[in-house]
Amino acid sequence: MEERKMQKPTESEPLLTVSSLVKYFPVKEGIFSKVVNQVRAVDGVSFSLNSGQTLGLVGESGCGKTTLARVLLKLIPATSGEIIFDGMNILQADSGQLRKHRRNMQLIFQDPFSSLNPRMRVGKIISEPLSHHNMGDSRERRKKAEELLEIVGLQKSDIWRYPHEFSGGQRQRIGIARSLVLNPKLIICDEPVSALDVSIQSQILNLLDNLQKEFNLTYIFIAHGLNVIRHMSDRVIVMYLGKIMEEATSDKIFASPLHPYTKALLTAIPVPNPRSIDFEATVEGDVPSPINPPSGCRFHTRCPEVMEICSKKEPGFTLIEGDHRVACHLFGE
Ligand code: SF4
Repeated sequence: MEERKMQKPTESEPLLTVSSLVKYFPVKEGIFSKVVNQVRAVDGVSFSLNSGQTLGLVGESGCGKTTLARVLLKLIPATSGEIIFDGMNILQADSGQLRKHRRNMQLIFQDPFSSLNPRMRVGKIISEPLSHHNMGDSRERRKKAEELLEIVGLQKSDIWRYPHEFSGGQRQRIGIARSLVLNPKLIICDEPVSALDVSIQSQILNLLDNLQKEFNLTYIFIAHGLNVIRHMSDRVIVMYLGKIMEEATSDKIFASPLHPYTKALLTAIPVPNPRSIDFEATVEGDVPSPINPPSGCRFHTRCPEVMEICSKKEPGFTLIEGDHRVACHLFGE
């Protein structure tokens, strides 16, 4: 069976390039299920991600970040656009290529309680993807599960135990071990610490950090906690109603945010538990419906700096200092 080893160092070609990605969900009505509208969950998203880096995805609930992750994993089909992952156009891949894609891109779930099958022993949970891909015999699969349990800070002997015998943090470690078993290149971490006690969150974040260095992993990190994003991300994308509002390095986003939405997110009142700063508490008003998003700039109904043009014309991206881009008329021509 394939041995776990250091992967190639960061290459100049992006590992992932997403171009004009769109995901609409049809809204159906009537006995003939006629499509009467569309939920514009992801609406023309483009970005790239280099090997060994972490991209943080932030925004309020309903901004499209989890839908984007599910489209990247091909758990749901895209409406249009292009996803090039590790040199492969995955929206046009055949079933054999998709199998390979699924090995190379894995997911760590938000909820360590519901994401593990309670009737399966931990060894089986971790090694199940190997069985699914016909990799190794039962002895090799067990050995791999034992090895990964030790890598994530648990005991070899834990392979014989059941999920209910573990704490939330330990269960998340099991989920992380499972996500590593196929030696993926990219792991999408969908709010991996939000269901955990604050005292445990740092341990899991440090573990993810260490694993990234050891195995040159690439992460897409979805989180509500601003400090979690700052701690984990090389680059940050701020999303609102299915669109990217701003993208920059983590340092730039936190030191000099430009988009009024990003600024609003960052003006959170300090609370005793900074890891759990909640976006919903920081921006006034409700997120409009993604079925009928506001015209022009989608943020104009809540923007403290709104101008006349904002409801009429959608802002394009303006590049600021090379790799910092912002979609806002304050910075356009
Ligand atoms: Fe605010 Fe206008 Fe910029 Fe949108 S384009 S964020 S409404 S100033």
